[in-house]
Amino acid sequence: ESQLNPNYSFENFLEGDSNRLARSAGLAVANKPGGTSFNPLLIFGGVGLGKTHLAHAIGVDIKDKYPEKTVLYISAEKFTQQYIDAVKKNNRNDFIHFYQIIDVLIIDDVQFLSGKTGTQDVFFHIFNHLHQNGKQVILTSDKAPVDMQDIEQRLLSRFKWGLSAELQNPDFETRVSILKNKLYRDGVEMPDDIIDYVAKNIKSNVRELEGAIISLIAQSSFNKKEITIDLARVIVEKFVKNTKREVSIDYIQKVVSDYFQMDIDTLQSKTRKRHIVQARQLAMFFAKKFTKASLASIGSQIGKRDHATVLHACKTVDNLSSTDKQFRKYVEDIGKKLSV
Ligand code: ADP
Ligand code: MG
Repeated sequence: ESQLNPNYSFENFLEGDSNRLARSAGLAVANKPGGTSFNPLLIFGGVGLGKTHLAHAIGVDIKDKYPEKTVLYISAEKFTQQYIDAVKKNNRNDFIHFYQIIDVLIIDDVQFLSGKTGTQDVFFHIFNHLHQNGKQVILTSDKAPVDMQDIEQRLLSRFKWGLSAELQNPDFETRVSILKNKLYRDGVEMPDDIIDYVAKNIKSNVRELEGAIISLIAQSSFNKKEITIDLARVIVEKFVKNTKREVSIDYIQKVVSDYFQMDIDTLQSKTRKRHIVQARQLAMFFAKKFTKASLASIGSQIGKRDHATVLHACKTVDNLSSTDKQFRKYVEDIGKKLSV
């Protein structure tokens, strides 16, 4: 069983500037699985931007063109679970063998392998075997390989062998066409000005865009009301409010510096005084935890540091919170302040 969802097809994956590269790389791979330099093909991007959809689309298209090929879609989480079970049952070799005879292996959300060294190790061997035999590997991740944490270097370097293609936030036109396509497929009619209104106001991800339209349709049919711009306004507001929850890096720096009673300039300064360094590292750690910003962007916003410094800060905070009671309390206190 390939575990592919036929609704996640290329046809239903609307093209725009935000996804053109990833989409065409996906099509190239689907035409010649294992036969392009895009091996592995790694699709990365934020939540709800279409990674899972595109990964399925490639698999669905390959199955269509090459029915004899074995294609398998699996989330990294499920892969990990299967591996753990196999080890428990002394079936590690069967597990490896099963994956080594697949023609096209699609693993979704590989960031889930972070810190799971056993699973990374077995995946490394499977990957090498598939790659050497001209089999296709397709991966998705919520970040680019350079920003991945706690993934072994040798695996990261494999991820970089092929092509890493980013899915970005779709622009307005693409959002409109995604909505129109969805309404068309669901057989629902909606006035253009309402579609425009929703597309204009929900920018961050496609899943929310679809969610807003679905609840708009549900509200109007449930209350037997016409879909009006006023109803759209109410629903969109709810969605925007719920999603505005991501805290900004500025806000994190303010909370951390207030907590230690210093000002933001001090927090960002070049000083090596221990308590200031720790405050800065905590700000970086929470920026990593609570925002979607890349390590490089976090570093540049917190005192113009580079991405390696941020990575080091995150590791230090992790280490200190498991060895130092006082430090753990800082992490908990600040974490609470940031989550309300
Ligand atoms: P991710 O895996 O990146 O979190 P998904 O692949 O689950 O995102 O996509 C979220 C929703 O948005 C799905 O319903 C998907 O079909 C839809 N979607 C995302 N991108 C597009 C697109 N370019 N065209 C049509 N639908 C899309
Ligand atoms: Mg996904």
